[in-house]
Amino acid sequence: MTQFDYDLFVIGGGSGGVRAARLAGAMGKRVGLAEEFRMGGTCVIRGCVPKKLFVYASQYSEHFEDASGYGWSVGETSFDWPTLIAAKDKEIARLEGLYRKGLESNNVRVHDTRARLVSRNEILLEATGETVTADQILIAVGGRPNLHDALPGHEYCITSNGAFHLEALPKAIVVEGGGYIAVEFANIFHGLGVDTTLVYRGQKILGGFDEDLRDHLQETMIAKGIKVICHQVLEKVEKRADGRLEGHLSGGDALVADQVMLALGRVPNTESLGLHHAGVEMDQRGAVIVDDYSRSSVDNIWAVGDVTNRVQLTPVAIHEAMCFLETAFKDNPTKPDYDTIPTAVFSQPEIGTVGLTEHQAAGKYAELDVYRASFRPMHNILPDRQEKMIMKLIVDVASRVVVGAHVIGPGAGEMAQLLGISLKARCTKEDFDATMAVHPTASEELVTMYAPTYRLKDGERID
Ligand code: NDP
Repeated sequence: MTQFDYDLFVIGGGSGGVRAARLAGAMGKRVGLAEEFRMGGTCVIRGCVPKKLFVYASQYSEHFEDASGYGWSVGETSFDWPTLIAAKDKEIARLEGLYRKGLESNNVRVHDTRARLVSRNEILLEATGETVTADQILIAVGGRPNLHDALPGHEYCITSNGAFHLEALPKAIVVEGGGYIAVEFANIFHGLGVDTTLVYRGQKILGGFDEDLRDHLQETMIAKGIKVICHQVLEKVEKRADGRLEGHLSGGDALVADQVMLALGRVPNTESLGLHHAGVEMDQRGAVIVDDYSRSSVDNIWAVGDVTNRVQLTPVAIHEAMCFLETAFKDNPTKPDYDTIPTAVFSQPEIGTVGLTEHQAAGKYAELDVYRASFRPMHNILPDRQEKMIMKLIVDVASRVVVGAHVIGPGAGEMAQLLGISLKARCTKEDFDATMAVHPTASEELVTMYAPTYRLKDGERID
């Protein structure tokens, strides 16, 4: 039998790669991992984690506004961007250290280098020029922001990567895109006091989410002072003599800002990875094509996470990594389960959602009951903040199973996690009704909406 240097070699030290390497190491496998940048990948280094820290920072402006409703006098406030960046960097460095420690304490050999495939069992470590061999290889290199090369002046724009390291907080920013990242960052910048404009090519932000959430978020963002321009794209970005940027819109207007941020989706990181040397097939977007078990077209090479362009979410990458270990090393073929994935958008107000949207459910079930509550959360009453919260349950009339749950408002992300358990367990509306409310909370509405707000039959509202 051929003796390889490693039982498993993982390329990419992000959420999926680290989880697979660490657990394989704990199983006693000889594991190597190569990471060209910093351990932790997009989520820890320039994604979910620093983004959430920014969200917390940006919420203080509203906290200060609301304080007087509760009797507090808040003096003059000011915000210092370099302080936030330094604190964020310190926390990210701490987390990165924990990731590295977790690998090393499970005997994973970490190579701080870019790696690429030379053949189906050989990996070249670029920093040293060394070639190592492995029985099984896991590609977990993630994705990167779409730089939109077709946009003249894209080189003046930043993406989410750059947003985490801006030297100064811009006075004005234009964010293009209508997905998770554009929406989250538009709210972050607005909360930090930046004059913010969001440009989106579609009719309404957050395509794919329940219409009630989309409408409510877009209206609330506009009411807060974020300028939302739909049905338009940036056609050109120019640098002016004063150093500011001018974004030319398809509708003919121009927007002047200090930064233009593109949040136009993410592309798989497979360029120059040598996949073709090993015979690994990719799709048109460069994503590794895998079967239901995350196995590529080469039977000892696997891929998990964003590089496969399935569902671009950290917990999904981790789940795929765990399934991969079961399949490849525990003789227990396990397919990742993509059914009923809860998710949150850390917009302001926040969104938490699980299961089918009303529109999706209407296409799947003959009759639906929709339970919908719209109210001002208690916290907003004394400060006289008008912002409302919406909760919505979508119930299949035939089985009474709750097939969709959608929340927008404070704590929605946390609620989505718990709603996720109920929907995964296929709880019925009667299970929700039988659950005692926790009072006084906003989420008690989820178990006290006794009468349907309206009914849909064959997709038509019949009230
Ligand atoms: P999304 O896919 O969510 O959104 C991309 C947006 O860019 C869409 O609104 C899309 O429009 C628009 N777009 C794409 N191409 C163009 C173009 N050429 N011109 C104009 N507009 C364009 O990607 P994001 O970059 O926001 O985020 C990437 C992924 O990261 C998400 O899919 C998500 O899974 C993950 N993520 C998750 C977070 C969370 O869980 N909270 C937070 C951040 C990211 P259209 O809608 O018309 O297609």
